[in-house]
Amino acid sequence: MSSVVSVFVGLGSNLDNPVRQIRLALSNLAQIRSSSLDKCSSLFKGPAMGGEKNQADYINAVAMMTTTLPPLDLLGALQEKETLQGRIHGKRWGPRIIDLDLLIYGTQTIHEKNLSVPHIGVAERAFVLLPLCELNPQLVVPNLGKVSELVKLVDCRQLVRLESGIIGEEF
Ligand code: ADP
Ligand code: MG
Repeated sequence: MSSVVSVFVGLGSNLDNPVRQIRLALSNLAQIRSSSLDKCSSLFKGPAMGGEKNQADYINAVAMMTTTLPPLDLLGALQEKETLQGRIHGKRWGPRIIDLDLLIYGTQTIHEKNLSVPHIGVAERAFVLLPLCELNPQLVVPNLGKVSELVKLVDCRQLVRLESGIIGEEF
């Protein structure tokens, strides 16, 4: 039997009622096989990052899940859920209806062609670190350190917390 792994999934949207898209994505995450959605952080609103600043604000959150799926299978399941929700893979950094990133997979570090874990953005993105910190400040990001320490190194001033966490049973 495969072992149960604790994973964290980053959610982001800035198109077509982003708060609704995040809620919809959470109910889709709850359907992933061999996995359970245990908890979600608050939703956070903030400006777009990267090279494409001229776009609508983002809503971001982080979901805490457990799974027995291997990492690439879980990535495949996340991509299926993105497609189901209408994600069209366009310009990098461009607006998106839903983005589901595998942030952390247990204590593993993975360097494969299609999968880097921890996700490359974890260390520098306030919209990832703040929700992670809310879920578990003691969490250690493999190779990077404790979330409660990492969050001190990023600028969180432009992030606004919208609502408190939603527990898995509520889906
Ligand atoms: P981004 O999230 O960087 O804006 P995309 O969502 O379009 O970009 O993903 C681009 C590619 O990133 C995917 O094809 C996927 O294979 C790859 N990828 C690498 N590591 C991860 C990860 N940890 N989580 C999700 N996608 C990842
Ligand atoms: Mg992505």
